[in-house]
Amino acid sequence: MRSKIVAGNWKMNKNVAESKALAEGLVSELNGVSLDNTRVIVSPTFVNLTTVLAATEGSAVEVAAQNMHQEASGAYTGEISADMLTSVGIKSVILGHSERREYFGEDEALLAKKTDAALANGLEVIYCFGEVKEEREANIQEKVVAEQISGALFHLDAAAWSNIVLAYEPVWAIGTGLTASAEQAQEMHAFIRGFVADKYGAEVAENVSILYGGSCKPSNAEEIFSKPDVDGGLIGGASLVAADFAAVIKAI
Ligand code: PEP
Repeated sequence: MRSKIVAGNWKMNKNVAESKALAEGLVSELNGVSLDNTRVIVSPTFVNLTTVLAATEGSAVEVAAQNMHQEASGAYTGEISADMLTSVGIKSVILGHSERREYFGEDEALLAKKTDAALANGLEVIYCFGEVKEEREANIQEKVVAEQISGALFHLDAAAWSNIVLAYEPVWAIGTGLTASAEQAQEMHAFIRGFVADKYGAEVAENVSILYGGSCKPSNAEEIFSKPDVDGGLIGGASLVAADFAAVIKAI
C-alpha cells in the first residue's frame, strides 16, 4: 500500500537557530498525533540538515535534502554529492523542483543523472514536475507532465520505483496563492498514475505516492487530500510555521 506523505520544502529560508526552532516546534505540534500511514518530511537547506536531523531524532519527522549534484565527487565547487547526504544520515532528496528548473536550468536529461546517482546511493527521490501557466492555458499540461516524468524516470527499471515519490506541482500555483482545485489535482494525478501504469504496470502505479504542491495550506489541504489519487502534499510557504504545517499534516 502506498504511503501518504506530507513534505515541507523550506527552500532558502531559516538560519540554523530558526531551523532548529521550527523542527522542534513541529515535533511538539505532532506529539500525540496519530500519523497512521502518513510520513512527515521536512527539507531544510544543506547547512541545516544535521541540526534538523538532531532536532527530530526519535520523532516521526524525516529529513530530506532539497537538491544534490549528479557526480560522486570532484571539481564541482559549491556542490553536494549523494554520498555526502547519506553520510550525515539523509535518506531522501527532492529533485527537479520548478525553481531548480527555472533558475538553474535543470532539465530532464540532468535530472535523470541526478536520479540515478541518488538511487545508486540508496536515497529516495521526491521528483517534482508540473506545467507553467501558459501550458495550462494551452491545455497541454498532460503532455508536458508526461515528458517531464518519462524524460527523467522512464529509463529506470520497475524495482527502482519503490524509491520514487512523484510531486505534481503546477508552477502557476507555487507561491502564488493560486491553487489547483481539488478536481484539477485529482484529474492530473489520475492521469499520472495511468501514465506510469502504461509503462510499468498497475502494481508500480498503485504503489507510487503522488503528492500535490502549490499553495497548499490549512484552509485547502483537507479538500485536496480527500481525492483518491492525491497521496499528500509538498508544501512550501505553509511549512515554515510549525502550527500551519501541523495543520496541513492533520488534514490528511
Ligand atoms: C513548493 O515550492 O514546493 C511549494 C509547493 O510552494 P508553496 O506551497 O509555497 O506554493
